Amino acid sequence: MESSSRRTFFQQAAAGLGMLSLASSGLRAGEEKGTKVLKIVCVGGHPGDPEAGPGGTLARFAAAGHRVSNLYFNRGEAGVDGKTSSEAAEIRTAEATAACTILGAKPIFFGQIDGAGVVNNDWVARMEELLASEKPDIVFTHWPIDSHKDHQCASLLTIQAWMRAKVKFDLYFFEVGSGVETMTFHLSGMALGVEILRIQPDLPVILMTGFSGSLTTEVANASGIHQLLIKPISSEAIGAAIQLAIRRGVLVC
Ligand SMILES: [Zn+2]
Repeated sequence: MESSSRRTFFQQAAAGLGMLSLASSGLRAGEEKGTKVLKIVCVGGHPGDPEAGPGGTLARFAAAGHRVSNLYFNRGEAGVDGKTSSEAAEIRTAEATAACTILGAKPIFFGQIDGAGVVNNDWVARMEELLASEKPDIVFTHWPIDSHKDHQCASLLTIQAWMRAKVKFDLYFFEVGSGVETMTFHLSGMALGVEILRIQPDLPVILMTGFSGSLTTEVANASGIHQLLIKPISSEAIGAAIQLAIRRGVLVC
């Protein structure tokens, strides 16, 4: 379920990330007297999950002066075709570390093995201790009803740590691969874009999605979506779309 196409997408997209304008008045820390610098921890199953889930949000928090840590449940040992577990782990650890550099986050590797997620008292205690040491204000993790066992395990351990935490933090769930991995989420990208525009009509919205027989640029534009990109999407196409969105004003993607 940890597809190589997602890794390939991020490798291609990384080249375009430098163009992102992440200025955010609402998130910025320290500019006003008494504004707290927040600590954010994202607990993801594999390298790529924090990035594919709330990656944009994490980047904006970091760019606004808050402190972000990405906790990787495992090192993606099973996720590279033709490579041994140790080779894949080395490759994906390097990718996760590079992604954290781009996002402005600190990588933490939890020590479980890809495809062999474990939930027991020892691991609950380890998650509890690790999150306590990070002193987070906000924690993101996988929505627990997920088709991938590692995602489920990462989520359940985080929920247990949250329930047992002596110093409470806000807990939010993110999705990866809605309908395929994350289950029971029914809000489509189109519906989400329309809802965003209902709240703030002046935001440019770029919808990036897989092939649909019914979703065309004309249909998207008629609903207010400014740009529609259909997979496979090149880094050049993403860059051009983002540049156009930046010229329009604030970026939403
Ligand atoms: Zn994953």
